[in-house]
This record gives sequence, structure tokens and C-alpha cells, in this order.
Amino acid sequence: MSTIAENIAKVGARIREAAQASGRDCATIGLLAVSKTKPAAAIRQAHAAGLCDFGENYLQEALEKQLELSDLPLIWHFIGPIQSNKTRAIAEHFAWVHSVDRLKVAERLSAQRPPHLPALNICLQVNVSGEASKSGCSPEELPALAQAVTQLPNLKLRGLMTIPQPSDDRATQQAAFARLAELQARLNLDLDTLSMGMSHDLEAAIAEGATWVRIGTALFGERDYS
Ligand SMILES: *Cc1c(COP(=O)(O)O)cnc(C)c1O
Repeated sequence: MSTIAENIAKVGARIREAAQASGRDCATIGLLAVSKTKPAAAIRQAHAAGLCDFGENYLQEALEKQLELSDLPLIWHFIGPIQSNKTRAIAEHFAWVHSVDRLKVAERLSAQRPPHLPALNICLQVNVSGEASKSGCSPEELPALAQAVTQLPNLKLRGLMTIPQPSDDRATQQAAFARLAELQARLNLDLDTLSMGMSHDLEAAIAEGATWVRIGTALFGERDYS
């Protein structure tokens, strides 16, 4: 088995155990493989070992890998910060966007979604930890943004996403994810997706209802930005 296939098996076991611990059906939890900075060959191995959904943060890098992997039936998710001038390519080349945090970006994605494609699946990114530097809308801005996004014709609002401040403390991790779940419930909008949990905190996220865990390091190893 390749290292990636072994890592997928380990992450799968963590997801199953976490689901069992909170009485959830693990079939309701998707594994989104975060492949930023990793070569197309690593994605090919992960697909051979059973994964279909891949998350990328940097548009140009993602487009290059998509071209190289166009023989595979992969589902691409954009999960990084979005500049307005990148919305057209995102609307054209992805099935999901997890990182929408303002109406202008949502409006552009809807207007630029090619008519032959199904509605673009959207998660609104919420800053639940309140640090000034992080992307995401505030909990206060969320209801109006969510309401407006449901009106856009070529988007399908699926749910919320968050990247909490990193913590090694399980209770702190879980409090942030519980906050996102509660914000989603209060919207009262028939949403089915909570995109939350990464390599170090997927158990806490699953305990609070995650339906996508976004996993990079635990599948592909540490990232090298040098
Ligand atoms: C990089 C990244 C991840 C994956 O993080 P790991 O800690 O490597 O699992 C998940 N979500 C987003 C938005 C990311 O940018």
C-alpha cells in the first residue's frame, strides 16, 4: 500500500470511531482531501485509494492540477480566500465553494456560473473565534448574508464552514464547532452541510455534527511552502 493509501485508511478509522462515539452514521460524514501544495500524482494516488472529493485553496495551482487530472471523475471544492477577480474561474471549474463570506462574491459566482452546469454548492464561511485576521463573516452578519444567498439563482446554499483558532484542548475545539452548528440551526433554512474539522480536530468536529471534514496533513503529510 502507498503511504497515501495507508493514511486514508487511518483517517477513515478516525472518522468511523468519532462517528460511533457520538452515535452518528459515518455515511453522513464526507472526507474532503485537501491537496493544496501537493502534486497531481498525490491526488491520483488518493483517487486510486477511493477518494473523489478534493479541496484546493489557490486558483492557479488548482486549475493546473485539474487539467492534468481531467481523465479522472474528481469533484473539486474551492476552500481558500476568494478575490473578486477570481470568481469567474471558480464558478466555471468547481462543484463546491466552502469559503464564501460576502455577498459581492456570491453574486458574482451566481452570475458567472455557466448555464450548462448544475447550481454551485455553497458554504458560508463564518469566523466563530472572532480574530480580526481570519476570513469569514461575523455571526452577526450571517443571517442577512444567508438569506440573500438563497435568492441567487445559480447557487445552492448548503451550509456553513469554519476554521477556528487552532487549539489542542478538546473542549475549546468542540465549543467553536458547537457554535457553528448552533448558528446554522438558528438560520432555520433547511441546510444539510457543516464543513468543519481538519487533521488535528476532526473528532471534535464530528462530535458537533460535521458533514465534511477537510483533511490535508493527515492524508498527504506536512506541507512545504519553501
Ligand atoms: C489547509 C486547509 C485544510 C487542511 O488542514 P490540515 O490541518 O492540513 O488537515 C482544511 N481547510 C482549509 C480551509 C485549509 O486551508
